[in-house]
Amino acid sequence: MFNVILFGPPGSGKGTQSEKLMEKYGLKHLSTGDLLRSEISKKTPLGIEARNFMDKGQLVPDEVVIGMISSLLDNNKEATGFLFDGFPRTSAQAEALDRLLELKNSCISVMIALEVSEKELIHRLVQRGKTSGRADDDNENVIRARIVEYKTKTAAVADYYRKFNKVVEVKGEGSVEEIFEALCKQIEKHSDC
Ligand code: ADP
Repeated sequence: MFNVILFGPPGSGKGTQSEKLMEKYGLKHLSTGDLLRSEISKKTPLGIEARNFMDKGQLVPDEVVIGMISSLLDNNKEATGFLFDGFPRTSAQAEALDRLLELKNSCISVMIALEVSEKELIHRLVQRGKTSGRADDDNENVIRARIVEYKTKTAAVADYYRKFNKVVEVKGEGSVEEIFEALCKQIEKHSDC
């Protein structure tokens, strides 16, 4: 199996690049943000609980997202690899993911961290808010709260994978195509596991 984590702060371009990567490499795309938004639109109990956190720019509790990923891994047994987007976002999620993959005799091949300046992130998210229809992009205070969550809880996830030499950094500013090419180069260097 070949499993990639696309990592980076809100607005770093994970969603845009994931679409292109899953198409090129045939990976199953797992975006916890998209999955949670789909639960919200279906008004499931999970969606109703998650919404309270997402609307404030806070992370959804670990057990909720870990449970969601665990059942998706079980329901996609035929997949040749996964592209994780927006997950793991805490050290507890990273440890849980490693355990789930171990049960499949698999592991994370590489974590690619997109690097974008804070000024550019806020600019992109405010722009996206004008058309995305996403409640959490619509308010600059919520955008800033998401960036604080990233710095205080999520940035540590890269340190976790650094211990295993699995992190590569890619500049997330430039054209979509330039960034995509840089990502593909890294993926092709790390295709073990
Ligand atoms: P972005 O990274 O641009 O903020 P996402 O779609 O990845 O967008 O996430 C939107 C929101 O969904 C987050 O602010 C958070 O509330 C929730 N969320 C998504 N993934 C996770 C996760 N792995 N753990 C906790 N909360 C999550």
